[in-house]
Amino acid sequence: MSVNNSLHLAPMLALGDDKQKNEFITPYTTSDKIGCFALSEPGNGSDAGVTFTTASYKGDHYLLNGTKASITNAFEGIDGFSLGKKEDKLDIRGSSTCQLIFEDYIISKENILGQPVYGFKIAMKILDAGRIGIASQALCTLETCPQNVIIETPKLLKIIKTLQKYNA
Ligand SMILES: Cc1cc2nc3c(=O)[nH]c(=O)nc-3n(C[C@H](O)[C@H](O)[C@H](O)COP(=O)(O)OP(=O)(O)OC[C@H]3O[C@@H](n4cnc5c(N)ncnc54)[C@H](O)[C@@H]3O)c2cc1C
Repeated sequence: MSVNNSLHLAPMLALGDDKQKNEFITPYTTSDKIGCFALSEPGNGSDAGVTFTTASYKGDHYLLNGTKASITNAFEGIDGFSLGKKEDKLDIRGSSTCQLIFEDYIISKENILGQPVYGFKIAMKILDAGRIGIASQALCTLETCPQNVIIETPKLLKIIKTLQKYNA
């Protein structure tokens, strides 16, 4: 819910035009739909500015190509957009965290939030609102970590053995 509220609804309220607000707010407050925010990629994380996904301008729409990684609330694909690997997480298992794969995915020009040139700036501003939530999640994870490590010990030993096999 934290991602839906702070990373999807909040920017929609702040920057969306009337049409965007109609389409992208109400269904996300009635649990018909759940919002996500896709910035991270397989080759980036902390250094979010180094993105490889492209949005090519085609007049009335953009074509999106690339892969996003570790995205919360990723549930189903549609034309031009499929789900990749789902993370088997140690914690926060109530939310789905997946790769999103875009292959010539069409986004209408009308769905751009704010002005395209400010995309990265807007993304960074949106993340500011989520920091408190993420920090409290991290604290809870840390609190339950010893329990989870005990439960997961056989799995961890298997990973260590595999790494040893490759001298890693
Ligand atoms: C449960 C979960 C849900 C997520 N949901 C989303 C989502 O909805 N949308 C989304 O876009 N992303 C999401 N992410 C991805 C998240 O944003 C990244 O995991 C995060 O940005 C860190 O990137 P990374 O995992 O690649 O780690 P890295 O960037 O590889 O960092 C690994 C470690 O190195 C440290 N480090 C990195 N760079 C430096 C440096 N220059 N100097 C010193 N230390 C450094 C980091 O502090 C960290 O401890 C999610 C991740 C998780 C675990």
